[in-house]
Amino acid sequence: SENPATIFVPGRIHPRVLERLNDSFEVISAPHAELASVDAETRARVRGIAVSGKCDAAVIDAFPNLEVISSFGVGYDGTDTKTAAERGIIVTNTPDVLNDEVADTAIALLLNTLRQFPKAETYLREGRWASEGPFPLSPFSLKGRSIGILGLGRIGLEIAKRLEPFKVTIGYYSRSQRSDVGYIYYPSLKEMAEAVDTLICIAPGTPDTFKIINAEIFEALGPGGVFINVGRGSSVDEEAMITALSDKTIAAAGLDVFFDEPNVPAELIALDNTCLLPHVASASVQTRNAMADLVVDNLIGWFKDGRLLTPVPETPVKG
Ligand code: NDP
Repeated sequence: SENPATIFVPGRIHPRVLERLNDSFEVISAPHAELASVDAETRARVRGIAVSGKCDAAVIDAFPNLEVISSFGVGYDGTDTKTAAERGIIVTNTPDVLNDEVADTAIALLLNTLRQFPKAETYLREGRWASEGPFPLSPFSLKGRSIGILGLGRIGLEIAKRLEPFKVTIGYYSRSQRSDVGYIYYPSLKEMAEAVDTLICIAPGTPDTFKIINAEIFEALGPGGVFINVGRGSSVDEEAMITALSDKTIAAAGLDVFFDEPNVPAELIALDNTCLLPHVASASVQTRNAMADLVVDNLIGWFKDGRLLTPVPETPVKG
């Protein structure tokens, strides 16, 4: 029978990806993404890449016969789709299988930010309930809020649906209005920020969304304003956000993503009105397994059946 295709794995990836890839392919893995260790003959054999995180032009250009890059995660801002598209290389991601988990996390982060439950638990664990009395009342509540979602896509819609029973007002901004929902549509991010008191970002990190949440948006959100980010840190002007939180231009922020992960600015950690998570929105065993399976199934689909399950729109699908 035919030789199995060779797949390169730059850097760390979910162990289930490696396990399953090994069943169907020859796998070359470079745990620290070091390309220098892969000789020219091996490079020429590589037809696929499975990657979690960064896959830039240097990686892509190292493989002359590359056909497909299977990226772990629904957001593929770490993969240089422009370089891939120019060479006719297809990129795939892992949409839908994580929608529920990420939407659940967004709701949890929203409530934790408003009601300060993580701080309350720390208070209990430190024995302060018994020694100092009740935990201070939370200054914010979800009750009666008006929520604006930046990006009403697959995950944004699941967040909106989950918000309905909370009896809040729900609106959204994206470049195009959806015809299948009754939520309030705002034609610009600025107009939405002016109208709502709670902004949830679940938009992709692209050149178009780069730092679109800036000082002007925080100003528009206002002093009662709460900002939740489960999208990408690159969509936020982080310095402007720190300033807005410090001088109370907005009230609070709950963040799962940051501009330069895993480096979280010390100012954000020092602030009392932030609720911070280490990019865990999809991070349950169950959901990460489903994402790992989709990474592998895209490669099996391509090399065994000539069919990709979830190609991204930026790269051409041929064959
Ligand atoms: P979708 O592609 O389904 O939805 C993206 C939404 O964003 C669409 O509504 C789109 O609408 C909107 N959008 C895109 N570009 C812009 C823009 N320039 N301005 C305004 N709106 C824009 O993606 P998913 O819902 O599946 O995922 C969204 C993102 O969430 C991912 O790309 C990823 O970065 C992030 N994410 C983060 C996770 C975490 O762990 N924290 C986990 C999973 C996802 P339109 O095109 O009409 O503008």
